[in-house]
Amino acid sequence: MKVAVYEGVRSIRLQERPKPKAAPGEVIVKIKYCGICGTDVHAYLHEGLLQPGLILGHENVGTIDEIGEGVEGWKLGERVVAGPPGLCGECYYCKHGYPTLCETGFSRTNGLAPGHDGGMAEYMRVREPKTMLHRIPDEVPSEDAVLVDIMAVGLRGILQSKFKLGDNVVVVGAGAIGLCVVQWLKLGGARHITVIQPSQKKREFALKLSADVGLNPLEEGAAIREKVMALYGGIGADIVYECAGTNPAIKTSLELTKSGGQVMLLGVNEEETPFVEALLIQRETEIKTSLAYGEDEIRLCLDFLAQRRFKTEGMVSDIIGLDDIVEKGFERLASTKGLVKVLLAP
Ligand SMILES: [Zn+2]
Ligand SMILES: [Zn+2]
Repeated sequence: MKVAVYEGVRSIRLQERPKPKAAPGEVIVKIKYCGICGTDVHAYLHEGLLQPGLILGHENVGTIDEIGEGVEGWKLGERVVAGPPGLCGECYYCKHGYPTLCETGFSRTNGLAPGHDGGMAEYMRVREPKTMLHRIPDEVPSEDAVLVDIMAVGLRGILQSKFKLGDNVVVVGAGAIGLCVVQWLKLGGARHITVIQPSQKKREFALKLSADVGLNPLEEGAAIREKVMALYGGIGADIVYECAGTNPAIKTSLELTKSGGQVMLLGVNEEETPFVEALLIQRETEIKTSLAYGEDEIRLCLDFLAQRRFKTEGMVSDIIGLDDIVEKGFERLASTKGLVKVLLAP
């Protein structure tokens, strides 16, 4: 079978490998679509995040191709979403109701950890089918189901925040996650949603998906604070969702939150983040983070998709073959800011 192997910074190479065979307890999934995630692009551009030699891809949709001995509850050909990390069920966090914090969750996730190749290949071995495979309802096309990963990250970010019906909210960064956050906030009853995003295309898309106002931080500069204050009674937003993962975005988020409000960090920023502690204390700003998602969020996402309550049109920017993974995939995502989600169809 054809696979795309991550070999380090700006290096992904196509290879021919034997198709994996299901050992007892495992399932082989034939990949229909694999989304290229921001995490994958980050690893493509920077050293240290993911290990060379790995087949990337954790946003996977496909069909059950082979069922290993002892695995029950699945039929060949069934459509599945393969994710999130299989929780171990035994560590402190799993036992205390925090599955996303499982001590070995990351190290057992397909497409992120050594020994657990991802979906940028024709077939993928799933070592923990019980927790990682989710049946796709008939009403949900595979092109939508593959969005479950980004939808679920956004959904959990909101569920983890103090959000309540009637809140004024700001979303900083309208990439794939930010756009999902906008939609969930609207579904959840936000009073008003402001989106802050430099790319005009993405700003317009956010407005189409139900944001009320879109502002360009590069054009507005310092005036952005007055604009948001004016929108929200002179006090600022109840909650700001930071979905860009950069220092300027975090600074903006802190500035736009009302006193006693919350900044929810959903972007991943590897740099040290400077902030004026005295200001945070004076304003009792709360900062919270959220990681990945669990089975409950996946189920809710698939259910909302089945009910057609989540808009997916325009979320997939392009579908490309494995042969085009570098030029039309990673290189384009690294340089073009207007793309939302690019799917591989191995
Ligand atoms: Zn992802
Ligand atoms: Zn655990």
